[in-house]
Amino acid sequence: MPEVVVCGAGIAGVSAAFHLTRMGIEDVVIVDPLPPLSLTSDKSTECYRNWWPSEAMVSLMGRSIDLLDDYARESGNVFGLNRRGYLYLTGDPQRLDDMRSSAEAASAAGAGALRVHRTASAGYQPAALQGFEDAPGGADLFLDGDTMRRQFPFLSDAIVGGLHARTAGWLSAQQLGMWFFEQALQAGASFVRAEIAGVHTSQGRVRGVALNGEGSIDSRALVNAAGPHLGHVGRMVGVELPVESEVHAKAAFRDHLGVFPREAPMIISSDPQRISWSAEEAALLRAEGRDELTDLMPPGCHGRPEGGDDSPWGLGLWEYQLDVREPEWPVPTDPLYPEVVLRGLAAVVPALAAYQERLPEVVVDAGYYTKTVENRPLACPVGPAGSYVCGALSGFGIMAACAVGELVAGSIAGFEPPAWAHWFDLRRYEDPAYARWAAGATDSGQL
Ligand SMILES: Cc1cc2nc3c(=O)[nH]c(=O)nc-3n(C[C@H](O)[C@H](O)[C@H](O)COP(=O)(O)OP(=O)(O)OC[C@H]3O[C@@H](n4cnc5c(N)ncnc54)[C@H](O)[C@@H]3O)c2cc1C
Repeated sequence: MPEVVVCGAGIAGVSAAFHLTRMGIEDVVIVDPLPPLSLTSDKSTECYRNWWPSEAMVSLMGRSIDLLDDYARESGNVFGLNRRGYLYLTGDPQRLDDMRSSAEAASAAGAGALRVHRTASAGYQPAALQGFEDAPGGADLFLDGDTMRRQFPFLSDAIVGGLHARTAGWLSAQQLGMWFFEQALQAGASFVRAEIAGVHTSQGRVRGVALNGEGSIDSRALVNAAGPHLGHVGRMVGVELPVESEVHAKAAFRDHLGVFPREAPMIISSDPQRISWSAEEAALLRAEGRDELTDLMPPGCHGRPEGGDDSPWGLGLWEYQLDVREPEWPVPTDPLYPEVVLRGLAAVVPALAAYQERLPEVVVDAGYYTKTVENRPLACPVGPAGSYVCGALSGFGIMAACAVGELVAGSIAGFEPPAWAHWFDLRRYEDPAYARWAAGATDSGQL
């Protein structure tokens, strides 16, 4: 009888399985009707950062990134970890002040030193294009647009400053996930292509799982890593997990004009903006009932170059519609998404306006951010003995995967949890003060 069944071969499930085998629990069965990483985990922008507004998330991501560095070293960096950073930008002096306050808060929460550059950027260390060793930590805050443009000449003249968070960058989520998966299989884990349809329990303990039409697997423990189906699988152990799913899309565009800077970090516009439609376009949008696209749009449009130096691809994302729903496939997306995103990105990288007349080749894919009310994950025991959850990974599942997988595996293996583990335990909501704060939390730091 296997020790542990892991429900789901997304990044959370394969990380949990990998960490279980590393902790000496090798009798692990990963169960998923789909190929590994193919539901949500291959839809991501694959970015990571330790720069979060709360000590809870800074602790989690700090641990996760330390592990990412270790695994990159161990694997010969098969997953292409870089440390180009996240570049948060604003054209609004007031927002720059706010950026400074929140940067001081993130720094105080443990995200690293804040270096402030006014009219000169002496001491600013540009990011290497590849690799992650010897990169500076913390963040560089630019309080002057011209100083910033000397480092990032592709930025719009309207930018008055911004923040370059340095313990950040991107990687190949598919390669990282497959490395976890293959390492786990080599250590003794196995993979079964099936859907878990029910959980057997008796005397308050998990005894195994029923498979959809294909028998059952006895086991002593179950890890619910079902991604957008977290709530459904939670109900199989009699637990109502407090999660919801939001649609999030991503546009990959072929930059055939070569106008998107290949050397860029992850670029984020922190300002709300009005898209510069022509009068005719705006009238057409209004006639189609798309007035929201002609109004002030929310902040958060972001993008980055994708692939190696000679790749023509870029990525752009902007969640200008909040679409919370029961997950369904194919994931519904706005047909105007690529055009809106490219126009939004052109506000910070004006060269992208070259695509306003004619869109480049674009591929849109989408998935769900499955999240808790305050946007912190669940990595803990839940319900009957032997039942665990590893999910609610929202828009940070790739960057958090190492830490949540380790946390859940450690809990099963009986290791002492780190001091910050309670922030990711479902029982946090039993504290009325926490539950009140969580219900009203407004800045989760999520893109
Ligand atoms: C557009 C977009 C951009 C993103 N960008 C980033 C980013 O830059 N950085 C970052 O860190 N994160 C990002 N994310 C978030 C990240 O992709 C997710 O948090 C992460 O992939 C979730 O992983 P998961 O393993 O929990 O879920 P999934 O990858 O969805 O895996 C869950 C698996 O469980 C299986 N399953 C479900 N029910 C059952 C069942 N009953 N029996 C067996 N198997 C079952 C499913 O088939 C699936 O394979 C992004 C997400 C999106 C959509």
